[in-house]
Amino acid sequence: VSPVESLPQQERLQAFRTLCLRHGLSVTHQRWVIYEVLKSMPGHPSPEEVFAQVRHQIPAVSLGTVYKNIHAFLDSGLLREVSLHHGTLRIEANTDPHHHLVCRRCKAVFDISEADFEPLRLRDSARVPNGFVPDHFAVEVIGICDRCQQQ
Ligand SMILES: [Zn+2]
Ligand SMILES: [Zn+2]
Repeated sequence: VSPVESLPQQERLQAFRTLCLRHGLSVTHQRWVIYEVLKSMPGHPSPEEVFAQVRHQIPAVSLGTVYKNIHAFLDSGLLREVSLHHGTLRIEANTDPHHHLVCRRCKAVFDISEADFEPLRLRDSARVPNGFVPDHFAVEVIGICDRCQQQ
């Protein structure tokens, strides 16, 4: 349980309001529930998995509404997609700085803290081609996961 999850609901809601304000999003009850569900889900849920959880709390919610809110989070930069090239949309619920361990066999994606790496930097940013302006590093460490090793 992260320190954020152990805060009382009122404080979490206040923190969510501040976050939305910073990212130019309006605060609605649905948006708040979807965010809470996302933060409570381990790993990298798909919109469908988020929808299944949100329904327990808002039975009338539609998949379209969940999609719309997830895209609002992603477009505003409040949350990130796991990777832009994974094909299917997976939401990064872990907002702590981290990279990914990707299993070559089953494609499972696990988090690894940025603190477990040597500090990453470009040797000479003037040599980044095509006028590209980097804003963060996303490292994928490819290998075989524990479960696949046992098979
Ligand atoms: Zn695997
Ligand atoms: Zn992650």
